[in-house]
Amino acid sequence: MNNDVYAALGQIISKQDILENELMSRHTTFRTGGPASLFLRPRTTEEIKGVLKLLKRAEVDFFILGNGSNLLVSDKGFDGVIISLANFADINIEDETKVVAQAGAMNSSIAMLARDNSLTGFEFAAGIPGTIGGAMIMNAGAYGGEMKDITSKVTVLSSDGEVIKLDNQAMKFGYRTSAIKGKNFVVLAAVLDLQKGDKGEIAGKMQELALKRKEKQPLEYPSAGSTFKRPEGYFAGKLIEDAGLRGFTVGGAAVSEKHCGFVINKGNATSADIYELIRRVQDKVYEDFSVKLEPEVIMLGDF
Ligand SMILES: Cc1cc2nc3c(=O)[nH]c(=O)nc-3n(C[C@H](O)[C@H](O)[C@H](O)COP(=O)(O)OP(=O)(O)OC[C@H]3O[C@@H](n4cnc5c(N)ncnc54)[C@H](O)[C@@H]3O)c2cc1C
Repeated sequence: MNNDVYAALGQIISKQDILENELMSRHTTFRTGGPASLFLRPRTTEEIKGVLKLLKRAEVDFFILGNGSNLLVSDKGFDGVIISLANFADINIEDETKVVAQAGAMNSSIAMLARDNSLTGFEFAAGIPGTIGGAMIMNAGAYGGEMKDITSKVTVLSSDGEVIKLDNQAMKFGYRTSAIKGKNFVVLAAVLDLQKGDKGEIAGKMQELALKRKEKQPLEYPSAGSTFKRPEGYFAGKLIEDAGLRGFTVGGAAVSEKHCGFVINKGNATSADIYELIRRVQDKVYEDFSVKLEPEVIMLGDF
């Protein structure tokens, strides 16, 4: 990374919020990934705006990071700037039923606050181990619910540094996608429309879904959740199982025995292992069933 860029960034955000050669294995739920040239933790929207302007001018690549729970970063790392939204995690309730969450707020924290305030509608997302910013980009969903159902407004920063408010329609939520996916827009905050409910029932629902996850998903291993999108008319996990790939391993990466839709890190996997495993699973499923599995996991860096 160019020294001038580093020095100029130091004029915009505090030096303690600029990390050099930060290992991305610390910031991904796969627990793999090499160093990012620079890793920034801005604290204000103005700081993000300043950073984006500078990076655009200097033609430096950047990537916005939530909780890294849907992310595979190359072992070679990322030759660019990671912008972490970890310092944007405030959650407030307005007009009794609207939850206003900054992008870096974890879904689990939002769910707990909603429960404590007897607000229902967010229970489905309590166990999705990411931020609300990541959830907006991906239209995260589980157990019959998705962000599309509860989001009324999303505040984003365009790559030109303009703050824009998008309503539900403008977000064009689709299956694990939205209008802003892949556009380098920064989600700053989201407004979620929930409803008054019974605190006990909300808590019960959250517990029931947490138990279901524990029973069905290999939560004891690092992963990025379901590795592949659901192909139309099929279930990725079932296709992988039927292709005889339950427990199939490449290096330290494996198809989970508990849930074939999950690729897990058995302890010492590299991102290259995971990547190779994904490719082999895709090939075998295509060979056996002529179905193309598309990764849900986002890849960053060179593989
Ligand atoms: C055990 C496990 C279970 C899971 N279960 C589910 C599930 O049930 N349903 C589901 O949908 N997903 C699930 N996931 C996947 C993952 O948690 C979700 O996709 C989640 O929404 C990703 O959020 P994140 O903050 O971790 O995003 P990241 O992984 O950090 O990033 C994902 C994408 O969003 C972008 N992004 C993140 N924050 C911002 C922002 N503020 N502004 C702009 N772009 C941003 C990133 O650039 C990247 O493109 C699971 C993962 C794990 C590990």
